[in-house]
Amino acid sequence: METNTPTQKYNQNHPGYYRESNLVRIERNRQFFRIYLQFHPCACGESDPKKVRFFSVLTGEKNSKVKSYVGSTASMEALQAELGKCYVQCRTCRKQVIRETYKKAA
Ligand SMILES: [Zn+2]
Repeated sequence: METNTPTQKYNQNHPGYYRESNLVRIERNRQFFRIYLQFHPCACGESDPKKVRFFSVLTGEKNSKVKSYVGSTASMEALQAELGKCYVQCRTCRKQVIRETYKKAA
């Protein structure tokens, strides 16, 4: 295994750099996510990241990738691509939709 790549050398001379860089990426993802929710809230206007869920526009299934990307060092491209596949819905609206769906079926 090669141990003297420029990256590894840089890491040896600047301990903590990549760690910090990762934290910056995570914080950037979080900020982007918050802003995204301001512009794409639930139909009722809810944009609290703790209260909303993401659902696939194709299947209606819950998408857990988005939130795992937000707290990670995932690239902005990956996060944006995943957000593009989803719609936002808060717990209250979700419950209401499910209730109405059952009503229709009954
Ligand atoms: Zn809602």
